[in-house]
Amino acid sequence: TWGRICDDLERTIGKNNFVTWIAPLEFRALENGVARFGVPTNFVGEWVNRNFGDKIIEQLTRNGVAVDRLEFAVSATKPAAARAAPRAAAPASASGTAPQAENDLPGAPLDARFTFDTFVTGKPNELAHAAARRVAEGGNVTFNPLFLYGGVGLGKTHLMHAIAWDLRERAPEKRVVYLSAEQFMYRFVQALRERDMMGFKSLFRSVDVLMVDDVQFIAGKDSTQEEFFHTFNALVDQNKQIVISADRAPGEIKDLEDRIKSRLQCGLVVDLHPTDYELRLGILQQKVDLYRQQYPGLVIADGVLEFLAHRISTNVRVLEGALTRLFAFASLVGKEISLELAQDCLADILRATDRKVTIEEIQRKVSEHFNMRLADMVGPKRHRTIARPRQIAMWLAKQLTQRSLPEIGRRFGGRDHTTVMHAVRRIDDLRTSDPQIAEDLELLRRMLEA
Ligand code: ADP
Ligand code: MG
Repeated sequence: TWGRICDDLERTIGKNNFVTWIAPLEFRALENGVARFGVPTNFVGEWVNRNFGDKIIEQLTRNGVAVDRLEFAVSATKPAAARAAPRAAAPASASGTAPQAENDLPGAPLDARFTFDTFVTGKPNELAHAAARRVAEGGNVTFNPLFLYGGVGLGKTHLMHAIAWDLRERAPEKRVVYLSAEQFMYRFVQALRERDMMGFKSLFRSVDVLMVDDVQFIAGKDSTQEEFFHTFNALVDQNKQIVISADRAPGEIKDLEDRIKSRLQCGLVVDLHPTDYELRLGILQQKVDLYRQQYPGLVIADGVLEFLAHRISTNVRVLEGALTRLFAFASLVGKEISLELAQDCLADILRATDRKVTIEEIQRKVSEHFNMRLADMVGPKRHRTIARPRQIAMWLAKQLTQRSLPEIGRRFGGRDHTTVMHAVRRIDDLRTSDPQIAEDLELLRRMLEA
């Protein structure tokens, strides 16, 4: 009968709910109006009882089984759970996001593209990559927690997913949970609301590897921090591996309690540095190889990838976005990807990521170039050997930064905006009449924009 009841339940609560919650149940016995089930964790039992208890009783009753109460007990083995929840496919065969391997684990889905195979290494990320590899290899827990930090789009999430994928292959028996700090917080708040802290605790404390992404989000959320800290301590005490990521170093996360900071620092803290040219080029080359499968026959002119690696700044996500757009565009118009096409198609991205030149840099470079003291840039001297380079620096500031004339004046020792305007006009004139000045300007501009 349990089989038939299952069919009915599946129809009333939907396939997803059924697969997630009911399928893992193991029907054990019926005694004195009490139906007993084996469950993989207490959490599942409590959840099922609260959310689907009435439905189950109703269906049992309909099928002629008199029941007024359900009881759940954790089974030593998990036959039903194993049957109902086959492990996620290996990353290579899946595309897009893959389902969570175990239904009772609170993790977020893993992106099938984020594996070690697709992670390109270079100087800026080699340490983080090596540490992630080590964690995936498991063995003795050597550094706990592993704390990865770095700016947006530098590969933190990619590395964490890669660890999870790798562990699933190497050690499928391990309970690996990856989730964002927000999801952790959401779970926590939900447990509070439903008065199920026990379930929450036992759930998180039963994992073997816990990975929490972007922990800066729980800074300042007192009770979540508290619970995170306890979970964290409990897992470290049991020698369970923890991997954490954040957008900055532990010590620099505001509103994070000191004891949590110091606990986070006692493992291995590694940062992902901004990408450099070589790494960007490597990533682009790898993506091109992948895209070729999708757009066979597309030709990329020499120098295009080098141009992109040079001009698009450190965020890998932006780099990928640019390449995706370029390929889509080129395949649409059926042209080869030339430098001109890239410049046209990516004009907005190129503008937005143009290197920001500062007024200080301009003053420094110009004074070096003309062999004068930096202090004279902002000082009062009016002699031509000083005033002319100063005008050149003002002109460059106008051309290469977004600063207004009054702002530029202020940064040149508190000069008036009319002085700056005069300088800009003067240099514009000289540029056409004096080849030496034109050459100086071109050289300086190129050095500053490099
Ligand atoms: P973060 O979590 O640090 O903000 P992500 O891990 O989400 O960054 O990375 C952003 C994008 O850039 C992802 O698509 C990721 O695959 C890609 N990416 C980042 N670093 C690398 C790398 N070294 N090799 C290949 N792809 C990378
Ligand atoms: Mg991320």
